[in-house]
Amino acid sequence: MGFCFDYKCSNPACGYEATVSGGKDHGFCGEVQTMVCLDCKDLLDVLTAEPSANAPSGLAPVERKCGECGGKNLKLFHSGKTRCPKCGARLKKSDNFDLWD
Ligand SMILES: [Zn+2]
Ligand SMILES: [Zn+2]
Repeated sequence: MGFCFDYKCSNPACGYEATVSGGKDHGFCGEVQTMVCLDCKDLLDVLTAEPSANAPSGLAPVERKCGECGGKNLKLFHSGKTRCPKCGARLKKSDNFDLWD
């Protein structure tokens, strides 16, 4: 299905960690994109489109909202540029990845 990457905060006092696709990805439930929620300060994959028989591409855009808090203050995640949503330190991408089940 896709890849997941671990992103870890480089600030040991913070220790924030998130496992996300790190960009745009396709899962069985549609298209997801990694974003930062400014409301709950979390990094997560947000559903951006779901399968639709009526859409020319087979996917119809859905309203983007945080799966944790339902907030809509979402910012696109850029690997290497986006900083820790909790403390603002650099995020390090782990080399390990897991295939989605
Ligand atoms: Zn949220
Ligand atoms: Zn942090």
